[in-house]
Amino acid sequence: MTIPYLNLKAMTNLHADEIQQAIAQVVDSGWYLQGEAVHQFEQHYAQYIGTTHCIGVANGLDALTLTLRAYKELGLLHDGDEILVQANTFIATVLAITENHLTPVFVDVEPTTLDLQPEALEQAITPRTKALMLVHLYGRCTYNETLRTLCEAHQLLLIEDNAQAHGCHYGQQKTGSLGHAACHSFYPGKNLGALGDGGAVTTNHDDLAKMIRSLANYGFSQKYVASLQGRNSRLDEIQAAVLDVKLRHLDAETQRRIDIARTYYKYIQNDALRLPTLMDEGNNVYHIFPIFTSHRDALQQHLSEHGIQTLIHYPIPPHQQACYKEYNQLSLPVTEQLAHEELSLPLNPTMTDEEVAHIVATLNTFRVPHA
Ligand SMILES: *Cc1c(COP(=O)(O)O)cnc(C)c1O
Repeated sequence: MTIPYLNLKAMTNLHADEIQQAIAQVVDSGWYLQGEAVHQFEQHYAQYIGTTHCIGVANGLDALTLTLRAYKELGLLHDGDEILVQANTFIATVLAITENHLTPVFVDVEPTTLDLQPEALEQAITPRTKALMLVHLYGRCTYNETLRTLCEAHQLLLIEDNAQAHGCHYGQQKTGSLGHAACHSFYPGKNLGALGDGGAVTTNHDDLAKMIRSLANYGFSQKYVASLQGRNSRLDEIQAAVLDVKLRHLDAETQRRIDIARTYYKYIQNDALRLPTLMDEGNNVYHIFPIFTSHRDALQQHLSEHGIQTLIHYPIPPHQQACYKEYNQLSLPVTEQLAHEELSLPLNPTMTDEEVAHIVATLNTFRVPHA
């Protein structure tokens, strides 16, 4: 049995007919940008997330970058302002901060819940702190009441990076509707993935939505009238049509992810491995299923020998990247340890029960190698 980490062809094939039909319609329409398909998807996605606005953009990094830029143009952020961000995030979250001449302040996380460390977060706040970028990493909702109170007390903007958590819940609400703005990626491998690049911002704030739309459209306030130096960042019609189809199936696919995760939690039994804290159903959409072990290379090899492909999310934390030399000397011990120990198991709605059982059995027979 060989089990790829993710087979995008199989993912697309789950809804092949509907997707082909949606693409054919756009091709046939002769209208490829800023048309009805994008408009429809924006409405449906805003409704799904529970916000008044959804602005389609070219990708997740643009969603993040344009959101921060918009807050600068609106006068709520200024050059050099400090932005709190979890240290173990994907680098895009941090790139959006530094590209806007804002200062990332990395906050370490808890080793088992992967949530921000509350004391570290409090200690990181200075008079220059203006926002918190909250990343629902791996599909885990990392929002809580303490964070909300903290943001309110310090008047911080709360911006969610929801690139890995489409459809995730916090109580009756969805992630992507919990803060002032939320940024989404529709990169093909995400839970809601396009057949190419795509992204969106969701928000309830009219001014922010308008500003992002303008910045994503050359900075135009009206056609050919540029009030700002904007850029071109569009979700295209074909991707929007595909996403609209896939959005209809997202909840069912999420349920399958949850069922697989439940099997992993129930049957994986090996003292050499650690699983992150099990969350209440609905609060984790299992974009990535991380396990942790101090014998990662050996475990990856063992799984590979049994036909199971795994990935690492992520091997180098942002503050240790060569592009961030100014932060390389920071010490964020938990984030650094997790980067050495993380291994992502295959988990997606195309997987069969037999594949899941094979992965569990293979994990359970793993033995720590002798030194
Ligand atoms: C994928 C991802 C992004 C970037 O999205 P792109 O569409 O690839 O630009 C940002 N943040 C997180 C947490 C991601 O996983």
